[in-house]
Amino acid sequence: MARVPVAEGVFTWPSDDPQLIGSRCSACGIVTFPAQDSCPRCASTEMAERLLPRRGRLWAWTTQEFPPPSPPYSGAVGDAFVPFGVGYVELPDEVKVETRLTTANGLRIGMDMELVLVPFRTDDAGNEVVTFAFRPVG
Ligand SMILES: [Zn+2]
Repeated sequence: MARVPVAEGVFTWPSDDPQLIGSRCSACGIVTFPAQDSCPRCASTEMAERLLPRRGRLWAWTTQEFPPPSPPYSGAVGDAFVPFGVGYVELPDEVKVETRLTTANGLRIGMDMELVLVPFRTDDAGNEVVTFAFRPVG
């Protein structure tokens, strides 16, 4: 089965050590994720691609106990749905990333987290679609 990314331009692909693709404003220095064409702070259009650190700290989280509305959600539903964590991971000196978490258990504010790619669904062509998530380190 082939693996394909859930979307282009979200994370480096293919990669053994994937990184999220953000953007940095050349005028004021703010970092965004996902990448944006104009700065949300100063409206500059001088945005440069920036690969984000793979590790950060859990800033806030909750658990998703039921399938989100579809669309945009396109993952498992019904008996196949498994609750998962969602939250914000703060990347050092960069940006807070809204992200899926690999687990809904044992999460603590401030814990070290690492970027991973996880299976999300199988598309109509039989490819395994992968998305990004953060998992607790250690
Ligand atoms: Zn700016």
